Amino acid sequence: MNRTLKTLGATLAGALLALPLASQAGTLFRFPMSMLSDQCANGGCVVSAYMDHAGADYACGGVRYSGHTGTDYALAGGFTKMDYGVWVISAAGGTLESSVDGYYDRCNYWNQNDPYAACGLYTANYMIMRHADGRKSKYWHLKKGTQQYARGASIPCGNWLARVGSSGASTGPHLHFEFWDPTWGTDDPYAGSCGGPISLWTSQGAYRGLPGITCQ
Ligand SMILES: [Zn+2]
Repeated sequence: MNRTLKTLGATLAGALLALPLASQAGTLFRFPMSMLSDQCANGGCVVSAYMDHAGADYACGGVRYSGHTGTDYALAGGFTKMDYGVWVISAAGGTLESSVDGYYDRCNYWNQNDPYAACGLYTANYMIMRHADGRKSKYWHLKKGTQQYARGASIPCGNWLARVGSSGASTGPHLHFEFWDPTWGTDDPYAGSCGGPISLWTSQGAYRGLPGITCQ
């Protein structure tokens, strides 16, 4: 599934050489967390895992784990920083399509064998936004009781969605940010030689750095 964009991108690049690839991009995203000085700035948040492309991350590095379908941005200050509170931010304008709240949010282990356990695959608090072109952005492992919007709400880019937590299959407080496209399915917003050719960030930033915070 994460190869589709790569394949389609290569086809587009071959067939439409005269057109800029950016014209194919549709919804683009800003970094989905707060970059204020007491939040993710100054090393407060770090990339702990990128999407897995058959054993490599988008840049052909090893910052991934098998089957990982999104990007993990972890709080460098761990549970202390989670208790202080770090905001997850809407990466683009759209509608809150679905959300789940109320699950335990201080997980420090991953229970693959029991997905419905307190810290299993299906017990994360999450929000899913749908954007104008049908693309979706997914925000996982949220802190219990911090969601700022109800399902169906229209949310501008750059607004508070919820606090970072550690609900579901999570070994520590982090945001799992995932992208979905109606044609390609789940895919990687980062462009690189082991990923796809099209970046879906307004500003992708350096490898292991954080994307920019400019809204599309
Ligand atoms: Zn993840």
